[in-house]
Amino acid sequence: ISGLMAGKRGIIMGVANNRSIAWGIAKACRDAGAEIALTWQGDALKKRVEPLVQELDGFLAGDCDVTDLDSVDAVFKNVEDKWGKIDFVVHAIAFSDKDELTGRYLDTTRENFARTMDISVYSFTAIAKRAEAILNDGGSLLTLTYYGAEKVMPNYNVMGVAKAALEASVRYLAVDMGKRGIRVNAISAGPVKTLAASGIGDFRYILKWNEYNSPLKRNVSIGEVGTSGLYLLSDLSSGVTGEVHHVDCGYHTVGMKSVDAPDI
Ligand code: NAD
Repeated sequence: ISGLMAGKRGIIMGVANNRSIAWGIAKACRDAGAEIALTWQGDALKKRVEPLVQELDGFLAGDCDVTDLDSVDAVFKNVEDKWGKIDFVVHAIAFSDKDELTGRYLDTTRENFARTMDISVYSFTAIAKRAEAILNDGGSLLTLTYYGAEKVMPNYNVMGVAKAALEASVRYLAVDMGKRGIRVNAISAGPVKTLAASGIGDFRYILKWNEYNSPLKRNVSIGEVGTSGLYLLSDLSSGVTGEVHHVDCGYHTVGMKSVDAPDI
């Protein structure tokens, strides 16, 4: 893969630490020769992101909280000032109140519903709009989703509804941006132990269930999501857009518990 992304530049949003899915994608892109800008959310995460940017020999594009659209504008201005044009953007951002990632979906509050949709869904559209202005023709946008958009998963609740809307956004954005050859895709990643995932009730059970019941009998690594992301961000996938690509050790293909799965 060395040289696959030579001459390409992109912004990766959503690295919190070295366990983040966005970090797996950043490393894969860097290994393939891309130049990378990272954003961070707030001072506490800046301390974690700074050394990671150094490891990538990358660029700190700015503190970005997607609920503050001025901060999103500032990131795109910083990147435009530094590079002019870019080739790709990764959106690996989601949030919902931990208290509602447990129990019944029925109990979702209006306030948290709106906030979850704003941060986890609208932000991708807001970012795509700003990216459009500085993306080269043939650029690529990528977001991260989960199987809880398609099937009911215990405790995933309002985040499942948000991911369904995010996946629909991928298709609408793919049409809007396709005229310029810009592609918009999502990876539906299997469960990975990250900061965000630790907010989901009984997450360890979900991890074990996927390990025992996926065709590959294990969970995915961020390195594997990273190289699949590299494919979608590179010209290797030039004919692919509006797609939700499952990187989940095949879990989404099975209809029942595996006959040899141990009890959890
Ligand atoms: P993570 O905690 O490493 O990353 C989540 C990121 O979202 C963090 O960098 C955080 O700063 C950012 N974020 C949250 N609210 C924000 C806001 N208001 N403004 C800007 N940034 C904000 O966790 P992760 O699991 O790597 O999550 C990345 C993406 O992958 C998310 O969209 C998540 O839903 C998705 N995903 C995760 C899994 C999993 O099992 N971990 C599976 C499928 C999809």
